Amino acid sequence: MNNTILQQTKSFDPDNLEVAFGTKSDHELRLAHLLFKMMGKPSLVKLGGIATIWALKLGLPVKGLIRSTIYRHFCGGETAQEAQRAIRRMANARVQTVLDYAAEAQEDEPGFDFVRDEILRNVRLAKSTGDIPYISVKLTGIGSRDIFEKLQDQKPLSQEEQAAFARTEMRLDMICKAAAEADITVYLDAEESWLQQPMDELAEKMMLRYNEHRAVVFNTLQMYRTDRIAYLTDLLKRSDGYDVVLGIKIVRGAYLEKEQERAAEQGYPSPVFTVKADTDRSFDKAIDICLENLHRVELCAATHNEASTRYLVNQLNRHTMVEYHQRIHFSQLYGMSDNLTFNLASAGYSASKYLPYGDVKTTLPYLIRRAEENTSIAGQMSRELSLLAAEMKRRKLL
Ligand SMILES: Cc1cc2nc3c(=O)[nH]c(=O)nc-3n(C[C@H](O)[C@H](O)[C@H](O)COP(=O)(O)OP(=O)(O)OC[C@H]3O[C@@H](n4cnc5c(N)ncnc54)[C@H](O)[C@@H]3O)c2cc1C
Repeated sequence: MNNTILQQTKSFDPDNLEVAFGTKSDHELRLAHLLFKMMGKPSLVKLGGIATIWALKLGLPVKGLIRSTIYRHFCGGETAQEAQRAIRRMANARVQTVLDYAAEAQEDEPGFDFVRDEILRNVRLAKSTGDIPYISVKLTGIGSRDIFEKLQDQKPLSQEEQAAFARTEMRLDMICKAAAEADITVYLDAEESWLQQPMDELAEKMMLRYNEHRAVVFNTLQMYRTDRIAYLTDLLKRSDGYDVVLGIKIVRGAYLEKEQERAAEQGYPSPVFTVKADTDRSFDKAIDICLENLHRVELCAATHNEASTRYLVNQLNRHTMVEYHQRIHFSQLYGMSDNLTFNLASAGYSASKYLPYGDVKTTLPYLIRRAEENTSIAGQMSRELSLLAAEMKRRKLL
């Protein structure tokens, strides 16, 4: 390991607008400002989401409008090749890319194989271009939701289902193996709690197989779940003594309402916190645990929350060894919280953006989620908008 002492020359300043929006043209800035203003109106977002789905179903010519507005802001392009422009622009600002094929859950074997092949192509692209250090994988893109759910409920699988699950594991193994060989990192996304246990088991299996010297594979822990600190502690205990670097990506969690509604409908205790402050505490606690175990953990804090980001930066700055800094990563979604990503990168931290790509129709559920998220998160919305407005003023565009 590298024992060099780190000399952080710049401090992290999330209010530095010039750095935050340095890659954006005036036109892109105006578009972002307009978009975030519109997304602030819940009724508009709801109506817009429904209207767009119907318009696409009816074949109305709305694709062009979506492509030049919300899609352009949140997605890299229709293909991985098309996303290269965004990738290069970010790389010039030292922001790394997590390439994310935005296919939502697939339903059949040809669909799973298609997603696997697309991701394998991305690994090859990453290897040849050298500026895509990460790819993300959603397990419901390469395996059946029903089978994950049955496994979690400990229901017996038919022979056919057993063979299908073995194929899912093989698809994941092919991706992780190719990533290890190409020196790429794989972020496995976390999904609904009622599918997650077999997904965790697959993630742990892959980590044991590929994470001997570095974290090739990261599992994602949703810290809104009441059981995740216990899971993390237990994982550390179980892996003690093994030659494995645990890849831990922490998020707050994307399916809060869905989790609460299902638990209420089916009459089991909610698996997620009901108070935001509890999720926040659990997120910061996970940071502390990972930092205490950095000799065998690599951490990615995937968040737009400024307080959590500052907390990790402050904790990290107490460690001056380079290897500590090499094991900590920050990540945000493309089109959101540029003030965090670009200022973290500029200050020398490892910062990345999840960059989704895919055709307009495929990415629509993702785009609707982004619009809804930006509507419902009080504070986040006004922060994003006020930063954009401040930058417009700075450039004398307002
Ligand atoms: C790079 C990246 C990768 C991601 N990958 C995944 C993934 O694999 N799986 C996944 O599920 N999500 C993922 N997300 C989304 C993430 O889980 C959050 O939904 C999103 O980032 C908002 O949380 P925050 O920490 O950014 O900000 P904040 O605005 O501080 O937090 C909002 C979050 O707090 C939680 N919350 C809000 N209200 C309450 C409440 N009343 N009680 C309890 N908790 C509450 C919810 O999780 C909500 O999303 C990812 C996000 C990023 C940036």
